[in-house]
Amino acid sequence: MSAVVDEPVEAEAERLLRALLHVDCEPGRTWDLGGCRRLAPLTLEINTLKRERGAVILAHSYVEPEIIYGVADFVGDSYYLSRQARRTGARMIVFAGVVFMAETAKLLAPDATVVVPDRGAGCSLADSITGEQLRRLKALYPDATVVCYINSTAEVKSESDVCVTSGNVHDIIARLPARRILFVPDRLMAENVRRELQRRGVDKEIIASDGTCLVHDAFTPEQIAAARAQFPGLRVVAHPECPPEVAAAADFLGSTGAMMRYVRGTDAPYFLLLTECGLVGRLQSEAPDKHLVGGCRLCPYMKLNGLEKVRDALRAPRPDQVITLADDLRHRAVRPIERMFELAPAD
Ligand code: SF4
Repeated sequence: MSAVVDEPVEAEAERLLRALLHVDCEPGRTWDLGGCRRLAPLTLEINTLKRERGAVILAHSYVEPEIIYGVADFVGDSYYLSRQARRTGARMIVFAGVVFMAETAKLLAPDATVVVPDRGAGCSLADSITGEQLRRLKALYPDATVVCYINSTAEVKSESDVCVTSGNVHDIIARLPARRILFVPDRLMAENVRRELQRRGVDKEIIASDGTCLVHDAFTPEQIAAARAQFPGLRVVAHPECPPEVAAAADFLGSTGAMMRYVRGTDAPYFLLLTECGLVGRLQSEAPDKHLVGGCRLCPYMKLNGLEKVRDALRAPRPDQVITLADDLRHRAVRPIERMFELAPAD
């Protein structure tokens, strides 16, 4: 007697497998038809709930691949996703990423219900400084223009003059009239920006707070040297949250989107991506002809997302899953983001 085949589940499993087949960036996790058959009922349920709720799912490139390829409507870095939040018009946004990103979505889509799968999804960078600590820093440098990296809380944004991303930080800082810049919260990115502006002949004094990303801070020049010795012709691609000595030893330094474009557009036998493993997984799925050698690292916060939590947040969000921001905070925190859109509209 042959087993009864559930056709929608089988079709969904085959769709998932086509997207996930080449993804091999987490130890012990590979994809086959059996695994995709187990996932398929859940992705089908989430996609049905999404339509019923008038919801969209925004997924950061660093979350689990079954979210990215199973249920996400938009996938990218925090800047790309914030632009989608701004223009989506959806009644509900499920933000599979970390909490500061969902806060940014709420700032830009105040009428939408914005939910997170896991409220514990913090960020070592965003959580490195509070609004009160920034107020104290500002008092020490009253003439400085305050520039916050988008990886910051709404409270920190509300104390800032302009927000930036890793893709537009140089152009925006170069355009600011002030010479003295107070840059929060990424100390390593501040150093990389300082060097790049010097190289461009832009005279700025950049004072930084002391945060780092626990993923990117852990890469080392020794790791690059070892990989170059093992893989002749290797191209090393790094994110600006990496330490300056790592940035200096890389072949290319750029935002998440720029890293993807570089790998896609470069003919080289091997690539080493110094960033979160999710981006490696995306390239394995979307550019399977590229040979990516190991070396990426996992963000524990991003990995707190999961399909079941996405489903629960969509179906009946608990209070802790819903992002709420007081009106006054929202009005102050959205201003630096709107200023960023004015200063770098095409990024
Ligand atoms: S990868 Fe780094 S910057 Fe991104 S959420 Fe994780 S800790 Fe924060």
